[in-house]
Amino acid sequence: MIDRLTSLLGEFKSELEGVTDSDALEALRVKYLGRKAPVNSLIKEIGSLPPEERGSAGQNINKAKKDMESALKEALYALESAEGAGNADAERIDVTLPGRRTPAGKPHPVTRVMDEIEDIFLALGFDIAEGPEVEDDYHNFCALNIPKDHPARDMQDTFYVEGDLLLRTHTSPVQIRVMENTTPPLRVIAPGAVYRRDSDLTHTPMFHQVEGFMVDKDVTFADLKGVLTLFLQRLFGDDTPVRFRPSFFPFTEPSAEVDIGCVICNSNSTTCRVCKGTGWLEILGAGMIDPAVFRHVGFDPEEFTGFAFGLGIERIAMLKFGIDDIRLFYENDLDFLRQF
Ligand SMILES: [Zn+2]
Repeated sequence: MIDRLTSLLGEFKSELEGVTDSDALEALRVKYLGRKAPVNSLIKEIGSLPPEERGSAGQNINKAKKDMESALKEALYALESAEGAGNADAERIDVTLPGRRTPAGKPHPVTRVMDEIEDIFLALGFDIAEGPEVEDDYHNFCALNIPKDHPARDMQDTFYVEGDLLLRTHTSPVQIRVMENTTPPLRVIAPGAVYRRDSDLTHTPMFHQVEGFMVDKDVTFADLKGVLTLFLQRLFGDDTPVRFRPSFFPFTEPSAEVDIGCVICNSNSTTCRVCKGTGWLEILGAGMIDPAVFRHVGFDPEEFTGFAFGLGIERIAMLKFGIDDIRLFYENDLDFLRQF
């Protein structure tokens, strides 16, 4: 039996030397130490030996098993460290390679125009105010001289939230909120998102406006014309023609639409698609704040006067960048956005 055990160990060792990967090593373990291993049939034979030989035979078999187990462990350890060294080679960092550039983000064109407008008015001494996008009917309509059933409500397709709440249809309610909480003199602009049920080439359900107003003693229509002309010429260029046309808004009296000379054709084309050959582009609405609005916020219209104006940021951005579909701003197309 000792001879068979010795030759078994010899076979095991020579097979072990030929093993080059962990799969083969596992197969070897099953062959020599698994349930059907020859060493197990040797153990069964112990019972048939003379009693005085049984003890040493058992010890020899156990020692052989332990020798094989530790030889397998060592071989496995050697294999694993060799494989690990190979991986480390593959993962070594080449410090001479150029770094990967992270693409830098840029402000959205609408944000850029909004920043530019804010800078112009900050330089004129205006403050910036904000208000809630979910408004109540009172601030969005009633306080701005648009009572229930007023036809002007039809001009603004409103998203109603519930009860008295709605998504503000313009930034004008910020004017009311500021005047409710402060006293003149006031020079404020209020940029922000507004919402209307409208979607086509020139309308999106969400867009941005800037509201602006100035309230003090003796503010006149000449101040309105002066501030807005300066603003538009800073925005579109010093030579930009500006004109004021009579118009109507419920919250201003008198009211004006303000046009600039067409920046696409320089007012020089009868076939220009943007100004439709008129040479003029409607750019903002403005007017002297209606005394009824002052009464809603507790200002004495005999003591104070003021002007207010509002304009759409996307429209300005479309004109400045020559974009003909407003929806492009909100499709998150990186090829489009990267152009700015
Ligand atoms: Zn034109």
